[in-house]
Amino acid sequence: MKEVDCIIVGGGLAGCCLALALHQKEKNILVYAEEANQSSAVAAGLFNPITGKMLTKTWQADLVFKTLHQFYADAEKLLQQKFFYPKPIYRPFLSIEEQNNWMAQSQEPKLAAFIKKMFLQSTHTQGVKDSFGGILLQQTGFVDTQIFMHACKQYFQQQNKWLNEKFKYDALQLANDSSIQYHTIKAQHIVFCEGTNSLQNPYFNWVPIKPLKGETLTIQTDFQTDFIINRGVYAVPLKQAQQFKIGATYDHRIESQSITEEAKREIQEKWEAIAELPYQVINQNWGIRPTSPDRKPIIGLHPQHKTMAILNGLGTKGVSLAPLAAVYLSDKMINQNDNSIYDAMNVSRYYSLYWKSL
Ligand SMILES: Cc1cc2nc3c(=O)[nH]c(=O)nc-3n(C[C@H](O)[C@H](O)[C@H](O)COP(=O)(O)OP(=O)(O)OC[C@H]3O[C@@H](n4cnc5c(N)ncnc54)[C@H](O)[C@@H]3O)c2cc1C
Repeated sequence: MKEVDCIIVGGGLAGCCLALALHQKEKNILVYAEEANQSSAVAAGLFNPITGKMLTKTWQADLVFKTLHQFYADAEKLLQQKFFYPKPIYRPFLSIEEQNNWMAQSQEPKLAAFIKKMFLQSTHTQGVKDSFGGILLQQTGFVDTQIFMHACKQYFQQQNKWLNEKFKYDALQLANDSSIQYHTIKAQHIVFCEGTNSLQNPYFNWVPIKPLKGETLTIQTDFQTDFIINRGVYAVPLKQAQQFKIGATYDHRIESQSITEEAKREIQEKWEAIAELPYQVINQNWGIRPTSPDRKPIIGLHPQHKTMAILNGLGTKGVSLAPLAAVYLSDKMINQNDNSIYDAMNVSRYYSLYWKSL
């Protein structure tokens, strides 16, 4: 029998961030990771504190962005790979109304830390349509999620802490109130970081994860800037020269488990509204985001089995929210501390759904 502190099920952004957070707290972990329907592998990896038409500041933006900068910078050092790219985001204005809106909003003191510069006229950046100017945001950038996850996997595999295996629920034994057993592994905790697959998990299928399909295109173009362009559609540079990931779509219907012509057209139309260089589509991808009804992560303990926990609901902002959720969940597992940030993410807000499901 091998003993570990925590089994982690899932090796996407949620599982990787939790594995790192627990490892940094000197906890012995074991990850079971099946790489199917992995939203994290499709993600463009953007992090951006101010989003949407109404210029909404992300929930707890100051804390979320402080945490993510520290977390990914530390992870780069530990894993000895480059995947964290802080970079300004440029959002062109498509009309004079939009320019006016942003002018008014940018005076808000709570947004000041995230605004680098406003442009009331075109920046004349080659390939960008911005005749009404635009806004340059800071504390923004992207994580190359594929490299990040690959680096985590390699790091933990070398220490026999990562298995490329599907975790099978029927082999899980709830030994007693302080441990679980899975085949020859005994653990104090098990945390499910399964993305939308949690809807198949017999212990957590009552958690209201709403699948949200998204598609992206990879394009080749001569676009050259030192910022990320993002207005209804984003372009994130890939490691292959002159290639960009552009996207994404947001579709709750999930009519097909594949790429669609409709999504391709939608992304291309949005891209052509802000970019004017010729381009070639060289790839198309799809994934399913695990969203939560209130757009906050879902972390915490099972209502009855206190050895089991969940980290899910990262939605459209997995890169920004996974470090915060992982840090707070790992703290709670070790120190039992209560605080208002943990409470806002606590799965206990959905416990009534569990009791109804019995
Ligand atoms: C098109 C698209 C673009 C996106 N762009 C961005 C972006 O720019 N910025 C951003 O922050 N977010 C973005 N996202 C959202 C982001 O991808 C998600 O928030 C995040 O990836 C969710 O991570 P996760 O680990 O919870 O889920 P997942 O990535 O789905 O990972 C869960 C993993 O668990 C594994 N698993 C499940 N059950 C088991 C089991 N029983 N045994 C073993 N393994 C199991 C699955 O196979 C999967 O690999 C995007 C998503 C999509 C689809």
